[in-house]
Amino acid sequence: MLVGYLRKLACVFVSALYLALIANDLPLKAASALAAWKLENNGILRLRTSSGAKLRAFFQDAEPGKGDRVWIDFPGELRRPRTLLGSGPVKAIRLGKPENGFTRLVVEFNSSISIDPSKLKLVGTSPDQWELDFGELPTIGFSSVGEGSLVRTHSKRTTSKYQFLDSSKLPKVSRGRFSVVIDPGHGGPDVGAVGLRGLRETDVVLDISLQVAKLLEQRGVKVHLTRSSEIDLDLPPRTAMANRLNVDAFISIHANATRNTRRDVNGIETFYYSGYKGFRLASLIQSEVLNVSSGSPDRGVRRSRFFVIRRTNMPAALVETGFLTGRRDSAQLAKTSHRSQLALAISKGVLLYLKEVES
Ligand code: ZN
Repeated sequence: MLVGYLRKLACVFVSALYLALIANDLPLKAASALAAWKLENNGILRLRTSSGAKLRAFFQDAEPGKGDRVWIDFPGELRRPRTLLGSGPVKAIRLGKPENGFTRLVVEFNSSISIDPSKLKLVGTSPDQWELDFGELPTIGFSSVGEGSLVRTHSKRTTSKYQFLDSSKLPKVSRGRFSVVIDPGHGGPDVGAVGLRGLRETDVVLDISLQVAKLLEQRGVKVHLTRSSEIDLDLPPRTAMANRLNVDAFISIHANATRNTRRDVNGIETFYYSGYKGFRLASLIQSEVLNVSSGSPDRGVRRSRFFVIRRTNMPAALVETGFLTGRRDSAQLAKTSHRSQLALAISKGVLLYLKEVES
């Protein structure tokens, strides 16, 4: 499949110490060794992997219809192959499954960009951290992009790295400049998912949403709620409201469930439909929600065709704040204190997004 122009890049561990750690920490299942990545607008690609993972990096010259490409292969399989649109010098970033048992992260550059592979080196800076410096790249329109947290947050050795938020820690944006729609999922006769001990999605998400509205209002953001009580509300009026008011962002708040009530399934995921701004909004919410969701797995930021994020004209995200059917998540979602933390986390994500738009 890969003919000509293919060149393997140097892959260097900075210290021999790390090589000694490789043997004892292989993942039990064949899940992808890639845990998080970020391509910064200074041209540095940062990766977090499972500890001691063996990576391979490659370069391929441009060919008709395709720019220069650099890719890295990781052991273990990705759950969902996906493509993210690049910005500035980067055409796209693809995460795929080139063959069974492997994950491939491809950075494709625009055809105007020429990469010198002799200068590229994938360097391991710690047993689970890697850097690849693409050197001088044009910075115009180049925004950092990434998925997951480069800082390991589920370490068994540390007690708790989780954040405890209070409203004084929320970022500030220009007062009166922004407006958003907060959409508590479901409502009225549509109670949404029903989880362990009868915990109902509509109750959980309405409580969180009302708090988000209050917190954002305190920061000078105009908030419109699609519902503020238990009413029956279809999906089209929710998006129509956001489109009519022409708000800066639309955020739909939900809680998840598995169909077969698998108690071992827990985790946080946030969806967007299209565009870099939607992706950023979803990413910032996802990472903040993860920060307050002790031990709940990161299910990632994903594209989806959900009606409310597809039919809104502005950047839109739908956050699933945990699994009502999951043992770990449902115990958390049932707590008033945790729902307050979730509201603070979602508000922080929205404010960080508005700050990005502002600058
Ligand atoms: Zn829902």
